[in-house]
Amino acid sequence: MTYTPKTGAACSCKRGVQRDNCPTCEGTGQVIDFAAIHARRYAERETLALCDGWPFDRMAEHLKAGRFVWLHVTEEQSDYALNVLPPLYVPHGFAIGEPNSDDAQGRTVYAFYTKAGGEWWATYTTREQFDERRRGLVRKLQDAGGFSKWAAGAGVQP
Ligand SMILES: [Zn+2]
Repeated sequence: MTYTPKTGAACSCKRGVQRDNCPTCEGTGQVIDFAAIHARRYAERETLALCDGWPFDRMAEHLKAGRFVWLHVTEEQSDYALNVLPPLYVPHGFAIGEPNSDDAQGRTVYAFYTKAGGEWWATYTTREQFDERRRGLVRKLQDAGGFSKWAAGAGVQP
């Protein structure tokens, strides 16, 4: 079944041929929530994982393997990352100011940190990918019913 969440807003296209070919409502007459569709696609790509130790080695393993993994980290670990070097601030998060590496497209990879579901998460990624990856993280947590439910399912009590 096609996932076509509606925003509830009526589309401005005219009924008939124009509506049949309308990219905004895809013929339904109601504006499609493309942000929700994208968030779901991003979420399908992401894995969430608990981290019981120093996160950088794990983050590096996932990066090397090309896996999209957000590691749950403690407040202390995110504080450390924030203070170890002058951070790069981005909407909804920050990165440790020193680049880790370049990806296959030549984009700079940093250790990014963000808060979602009231908890801190970390991953190696690029500035270009951060927003999409964060949307995937947020959506994945929402689908799981929030952090506590997700963590219980992950086998560890928060
Ligand atoms: Zn339309």
